[in-house]
Amino acid sequence: MTERRKTREVRVGDLVLGGAHPIRIQSMTNTDTADAEATAAQCRALKEAGCEIVRVSVYSDGCVKALPAIRAAAGMPVVADIHFSADLAVKAIEAGVDKLRINPGNIGSADRVRRVADAAKAHGVPIRVGVNSGSLDREMLRRFGGPTASALAESALQEAKILEDAGFSDIVVAVKSTNVPVMTEAVCIVAEKTDYPLHLGVTEAGTAGYGTVKSAVGLGGLLMAGIGDTVRVSLSGDPVQEVTAAREILQAAGLRRFFPEVISCPTCGRTHVPVEEMARAVQEKVKDVRRPLTIAVMGCVVNGPGEAREADLGIAGGAEYGLVFKKGGILKKVPSDRLLDELLLAVDEWMEET
Ligand code: SF4
Repeated sequence: MTERRKTREVRVGDLVLGGAHPIRIQSMTNTDTADAEATAAQCRALKEAGCEIVRVSVYSDGCVKALPAIRAAAGMPVVADIHFSADLAVKAIEAGVDKLRINPGNIGSADRVRRVADAAKAHGVPIRVGVNSGSLDREMLRRFGGPTASALAESALQEAKILEDAGFSDIVVAVKSTNVPVMTEAVCIVAEKTDYPLHLGVTEAGTAGYGTVKSAVGLGGLLMAGIGDTVRVSLSGDPVQEVTAAREILQAAGLRRFFPEVISCPTCGRTHVPVEEMARAVQEKVKDVRRPLTIAVMGCVVNGPGEAREADLGIAGGAEYGLVFKKGGILKKVPSDRLLDELLLAVDEWMEET
């Protein structure tokens, strides 16, 4: 994997984005922010699922009023997402949010942007700027002939420049598109031109199935190239599923480890044991475990022993007997119909030992 891009560090509440810090998982509530109770409950559910930074839309004074209660309940940094209003941005900062997400270009005059930048600076609040393919301004669309990668990158850099001109540099940048190749190219352009931490996302990716695949391809490609400091998977529906998908993407990319990984073979004509059933049983067994552990469930003695040896625990099925592996060595040879029970037993022992 390519070395991670060097970025400046930006503090968001008690977390730091960028530098060598872990790539953080974000999500966004879809309750009415003015409904403090509902939004706080959703923040708690997101936190429980593994969310590390939560964003809420702030579109009115009612939302601002709810912010202290939401922040107190969230247990993680809260980002206020604000459009068009410098007043709301300043009020959200004063209400204690940990980060702002604005587009300075739609906040208005340079004076208004400076007012927001000054308030953010005084409170140590960073600002995430950026664009997405659906909200590019007309001038950019005309100049570049559509929401191209160059248009998105140029627009994001312009937004950052407006803040820099207002004396503010505590910035995180995002460039999002629903089109994965366009998003990827745009992010790469921005990554070459700045050292700001980058927030990655395939915007409006869709529903959990294909939307997760799209996000995995989009985020995965950039992450493997060493680009990205925080991610949001953007799915229609309960935002908890965004957090689950983001964790799976980061773990699959080998960047963070959150939960056990069950490796299982696709089965073939050589398969001697019910691999799918066994893999599901193992997955069920470790579904609430929140630490790394690799378990291989393999159907035969051809590829089985190799994979099972590489894992922390594993089995390789045989016609009459199968092998149970632990940390690269054979733990037991048991009758095939005992294989699953023996593996589950080994998982229990592992939990006790580690
Ligand atoms: Fe077939 Fe064995 Fe490979 Fe499973 S591990 S797919 S049973 S060859």
